[in-house]
Amino acid sequence: MCGIVGAIAQRDVIEILVEGLKRLEYRGYDSAGVALVNPDKKLDRVRRVGKVKALADAMTSEDHPGSVGIAHTRWATHGEPSEANAHPHISNDRIAVVHNGIIENHAALRADLIAEGYQFASETDTEVITHLLHKELLKSGDMLEAFKATIAQLDGAYGTVAIDVENPGQLYAARSGSPLVIGYGIGENFLASDQLALLPVTRRFSFLEEGDIAVITRTSVQIYDQAGQTVQREISESDITHDAGDKGPFKHYMLKEIYEQPIAIKNTLEGRLKNGKLAETAFGEDADRILKDIEHVQIIACGTSYHAGMVARYWFEEYAGISCNVEIASEFRYRKSQVHPKSLLVTISQSGETADTLAALRLAKEIGYHSSLTICNVPGSSLVRESDLAYLMNAGAEIGVASTKAFTVQLVGLLLLVTAIGRHKDMNAETESHVVSALNALPAKIEQALDMSKAINLLAEDFADKHHSLFLGRGDQYPIAMEGALKLKEISYIHAEAYAAGELKHGPLALIDADMPVIVVAPNNELLEKLHSNVEEVRARGGLMYVFADSGAHFKSDSTMKVLSVPHCEKVIAPILYSVPLQLLSYYVALIKGTDVDQPRNLAKSVTVE
Ligand code: GLU
Repeated sequence: MCGIVGAIAQRDVIEILVEGLKRLEYRGYDSAGVALVNPDKKLDRVRRVGKVKALADAMTSEDHPGSVGIAHTRWATHGEPSEANAHPHISNDRIAVVHNGIIENHAALRADLIAEGYQFASETDTEVITHLLHKELLKSGDMLEAFKATIAQLDGAYGTVAIDVENPGQLYAARSGSPLVIGYGIGENFLASDQLALLPVTRRFSFLEEGDIAVITRTSVQIYDQAGQTVQREISESDITHDAGDKGPFKHYMLKEIYEQPIAIKNTLEGRLKNGKLAETAFGEDADRILKDIEHVQIIACGTSYHAGMVARYWFEEYAGISCNVEIASEFRYRKSQVHPKSLLVTISQSGETADTLAALRLAKEIGYHSSLTICNVPGSSLVRESDLAYLMNAGAEIGVASTKAFTVQLVGLLLLVTAIGRHKDMNAETESHVVSALNALPAKIEQALDMSKAINLLAEDFADKHHSLFLGRGDQYPIAMEGALKLKEISYIHAEAYAAGELKHGPLALIDADMPVIVVAPNNELLEKLHSNVEEVRARGGLMYVFADSGAHFKSDSTMKVLSVPHCEKVIAPILYSVPLQLLSYYVALIKGTDVDQPRNLAKSVTVE
């Protein structure tokens, strides 16, 4: 979830490590730390609670020389965020370890180590790796042997990197469920949990695979696979163009990413449409062979991606005429489910490393799914590598924890998938060109929706003293209401619930009063009349409403209702367009509340733990 950076060079590495941490900070940020082997062959460790800035301020290369080091930003799973629990953890002033993820058998290992005389300085699961490695090292006298023996005793999902003051020429890394990438420099090499961290120093990367162990020196990289065999992992040149470190003129990454949506959508469509139709190769050369046989679609995702999947369910059934289920990954992976014949498993994840979604994909392979496809923003990520087909979103790096552009680009990818499958089912050529022209018009529509920013900013003030809110939508706008509620919760900490508007009378109407703002998404579709009635139900009970409505939807502002006019668009793309004003609403409410918009409390970006 959080960040790992490692470096081994001739020069001092502290600046590379700290810059890398800053670039990973969005993943986890309750504390940060660095350990270097200094020129006197001693471990130099500095840790701070809070932001990386606190650590950066405490460290300069003059005061902290050293050409080998590891660094970490922590998102606590075991033990509170404190300096003592921050990584790197150390054993006997000799071994230092950073770790992402969870060691599931830490309690048993800890008990054994304590019995053997090791003293623990933290409450983390991580510290067992440190002492275990020290113990194994004393046993074998060989650091690689000891590292391998340590890794073999760990259960759980993790990525970990270790250094040893007595072997200062090497970094030791292992991947088991949590990503690690090696960055290749000239006479220096690097390691990180995400290539973003290393972009200032290299563009050449290779990804460790599940079970890999790597020994990295200044000039060499040796990788061993799960079976202990030496393997080569392909080195590729990163083509990440968006420099995620730069907020540009925007106050927050989230706002920048909201405004990037038109270009992100153009980028995702690039090369995937041809002559007003979906290009044959939009999902890869092999896609048609697989997609033509599909009789059912099962979507698996978490959080915002789950909402994208819920919208797609409406599309698959309406436009492609194929049945579709959507399920939260953490539920799917722990229940016995029935596999429909010829079912395609579709996973959706911005990072491609979401632990529950990845586990669901692996399970689906075991229980007989026909094939798998992932919609993902990170090339080379686990989901991309382990799925039969991959739709790479090309949305550019998303830094804000609350997902915005990744969501709308996921929706675009899903609509293209509906088309790719629909071609073999109920979707005729006319509908396909209708979908394609609506998608081509979408970036300009979003530009117009972004012009609502000022009006939404004004309206946000009404929410400053509110503690609860209700979001309503119907049909394919119901998941958009859910996503709007999630955004508001995530960054403004206002409790927000979403309901399918038809469900109001079955319970939530009881909540309506003047302290409970009700946000309604109301495009001009066949459900509009029904929605009008739902709005009247709220009005009759003294509720205050904020309606995001198509100009033709005939809602009028009055003392109980503020209407914001959303640009008119084709019905099929309306869920994508209506997400934008709701993103802006949560952003401006969070600004007024003064929360940490890009790094909301308790959350992390890439959820690589269960
Ligand atoms: N489980 C470890 C801890 O709580 C690592 C968490 C992380 O991934 O940052 O320290």
